[in-house]
Amino acid sequence: MDSWWDLGEWSGSSGKNLTTHDIVCPFCDEKGNFSAAFHAEKKKAQSTKKLNFDTLKCENCASYVMVMWSSSSFGNVHEKVILPRSLKVQNYPKHWPDAVGRYWLQAKSNLARSHRLDGNAYSTTKISQSQ
Ligand SMILES: [Zn+2]
Repeated sequence: MDSWWDLGEWSGSSGKNLTTHDIVCPFCDEKGNFSAAFHAEKKKAQSTKKLNFDTLKCENCASYVMVMWSSSSFGNVHEKVILPRSLKVQNYPKHWPDAVGRYWLQAKSNLARSHRLDGNAYSTTKISQSQ
């Protein structure tokens, strides 16, 4: 994808409207329990293409997530980008083969565990200085 105007054109979830049932709150891990707090949109000139900017409020913990989303110009598909993302690593990208995804998840889990043991996320790449 070279432009945000391509969001939703090549892949996404079914339906031309934003679905929130699969969005997980990055603060409390509650899934799909959001209300709309703010909506803005920007239309592409001389096109039906539209980027939507929604702020959703988690009904469990009252935190907010921002969702930029767009439906495809010709189909019944939409794609979204969510910010902030959860800091927990629970899934690998949908388009990856299971065998690759399992190893990637295991590696990410091991890295997260070693960072927690260090108590510092940036301390795993220490540069030793010779004297
Ligand atoms: Zn929440």
